[in-house]
Amino acid sequence: MWNFQTDPEFQAKLDWMLTFVKNECEILDLRFPGHGAPYDTTHAEARAAIKPLQDQVKAQGLWACHLDAHLGGPGYGQLKLALMNEIIGRSYWAPTVFGTAAPDTGNAEILAMFGTPEQKAKYLQPLMDGDIVSTFSMTEPQAGADPREFTCKAWREGDEWVIEGEKWFSSNSRYAAFLIVLAVTDPEAHISNRMSMFIVPRETPGLETIRNVGLMEESLDDPEEGIHGYLRYNKVRVPLDHMLGGPGEGFKVAQARLGGGRVHHAMRTVGKCQRALDMMVERAVSRRTQGKLLADHQFVQGMIADSAIELEQFRLLVIKTAWVIDNEPHGAARTLIGMCKVQMAKIYHDIIQRAIQLHGSLGVSNELPLGSWWMGLPSLALADGPTEVHKVQVAKALLKQGRPAPGLFPSEHIPSRLAGLR
Ligand SMILES: Cc1cc2nc3c(=O)[nH]c(=O)nc-3n(C[C@H](O)[C@H](O)[C@H](O)COP(=O)(O)OP(=O)(O)OC[C@H]3O[C@@H](n4cnc5c(N)ncnc54)[C@H](O)[C@@H]3O)c2cc1C
Repeated sequence: MWNFQTDPEFQAKLDWMLTFVKNECEILDLRFPGHGAPYDTTHAEARAAIKPLQDQVKAQGLWACHLDAHLGGPGYGQLKLALMNEIIGRSYWAPTVFGTAAPDTGNAEILAMFGTPEQKAKYLQPLMDGDIVSTFSMTEPQAGADPREFTCKAWREGDEWVIEGEKWFSSNSRYAAFLIVLAVTDPEAHISNRMSMFIVPRETPGLETIRNVGLMEESLDDPEEGIHGYLRYNKVRVPLDHMLGGPGEGFKVAQARLGGGRVHHAMRTVGKCQRALDMMVERAVSRRTQGKLLADHQFVQGMIADSAIELEQFRLLVIKTAWVIDNEPHGAARTLIGMCKVQMAKIYHDIIQRAIQLHGSLGVSNELPLGSWWMGLPSLALADGPTEVHKVQVAKALLKQGRPAPGLFPSEHIPSRLAGLR
């Protein structure tokens, strides 16, 4: 059965969320700007401002909704989460206010799935309560998209694991209370068993920050502005019980977190693009040129129509993906998630670019959020895996099902088909 309706009780929650995000979270974006701001646990004024908002979200039963019931969350499922994330995606601060900020969401998921009761009590609980933030430390300076190139390693010495190597773009590491680190434990093994995952408390001796790397949209003047840690693990020692999952299960644990993360980004992208489209419409009916409103020019109408059509198509893809995750066996949504990952960067590019164009010089200025959104585009096409890698994965999944033509001509060859009828 197909059904595109939202049940009225949940719609009431969504309505509450939209008003709340517009009136409260978007204001936080203005008061405390900067990509790192929502993770900065040292910013007392910002922390004091978000606490009562987080309490309101908790009172509504909307806190940390990414976790399913069996993992200790409210268990709304991915479809409802998609509808929620469309609203959360409007604002930089909203994910923190709703307890659904990456990479904490993915880290919470793998702690809930693979953590021991002690690990859950020590790391998952404060993370879920919004008291701390965390880091996922996988990419290395010499390798990102291909984990076979990772060299950061770990070995056992007595009652401890020793970790040595470098990691790159470990987001939020300057604020994190702990890091989840992927390291090679059996270099000779197949990639699926070569690595293990470790929990490293931030204050562990030997964990060195080479520098905090900033994004292009952040200030180049102050190198310390960045939040993406270039880290060196100088024989960092953690107790044996700080392995997350079993020995050699690092790849499996990493895979478990990345699928959800990608589709959550796609859901939030719908929200950001909707906001840009709303801005285009407002501009089109406000600004005049050559004696008429922008809205009366066909080029402008085309930009708005193309944006609305593409956004609706993308939204349906994301919602279908969420539905498949909820209703079909684990792994069934893999190709769809790849499609979402590829398409979100494309649609974000097209819609934000048109929104900037319609706003003219104001669009490229720093007086609208569009410029900062635009600069976030390359990250969307890279974080959680480059577009190309996901395209290859989508194509391979389809090609695996392909069968060669039965003869010299394709199976759709009309003369051959007619001959077959005789
Ligand atoms: C904002 C942001 C936050 C991030 N946060 C984290 C984090 O918290 N933790 C973490 O571990 N990592 C993080 N990353 C790193 C991210 O996971 C990597 O950027 C990503 O996996 C790509 O790796 P790379 O940057 O080394 O690029 P590379 O692997 O060097 O790829 C560079 C380019 O090469 C091409 N390419 C690569 N592989 C293929 C292929 N198979 N086929 C065709 N072309 C290919 C693509 O054009 C690709 O964009 C973050 C990245 C960004 C942008």
